[in-house]
Amino acid sequence: MKQPDANKLAEHYAAILQEIGADLHSEGMRETPMRAAKALVEMTEGSRMETDALTKQFKAECQVAVCHDMVIVEGIHEVGLCEHHLLPIIMSITIGYVPDKKILGLSKLARIAGYFARRFQNQERTAHLIAEFIEKTVEALGVAVLIDGTHLCAMARGVRDTHSVMKVNVMHGVFQSDPDVRREFLLRLERR
Ligand SMILES: [Zn+2]
Repeated sequence: MKQPDANKLAEHYAAILQEIGADLHSEGMRETPMRAAKALVEMTEGSRMETDALTKQFKAECQVAVCHDMVIVEGIHEVGLCEHHLLPIIMSITIGYVPDKKILGLSKLARIAGYFARRFQNQERTAHLIAEFIEKTVEALGVAVLIDGTHLCAMARGVRDTHSVMKVNVMHGVFQSDPDVRREFLLRLERR
């Protein structure tokens, strides 16, 4: 996938900052257009990953499952950018899955979450994309993805709502079809 040209981005940032009236000759802001360009490239790197190649890569990293016990990873911290205002969404992501024949290590689940978080996004879509990817890659019997997101666009502008956390739950496979599995998952989360 085409990589963005940081020099070109920096030029655009400089134009925006000049329009706002920022002093780009000041010591603090001299390097800001390039710094902002690099930050934007880094914070959207997930959108330039090829999903098919990633699926192949993670499939190769799967291990053989010895049982069907539910796997839960909590507290994966990621920052994405809201597609409406380009401002950060600070997310805490929980992933649960029920393996069939394969499992995927904890650090790999966190890496997967990162690929789908670091892009222009909305929280629901991110949760769906993570769930679908894990379902397909691990061939799991079910996947649940919960995301708690603090949206800086709500905190810093508009209504300036500084306390709300948006919660999204996505349940696929046995998490959706089997109430016992869903209950076990939610109970295990509550217990901590
Ligand atoms: Zn927004």
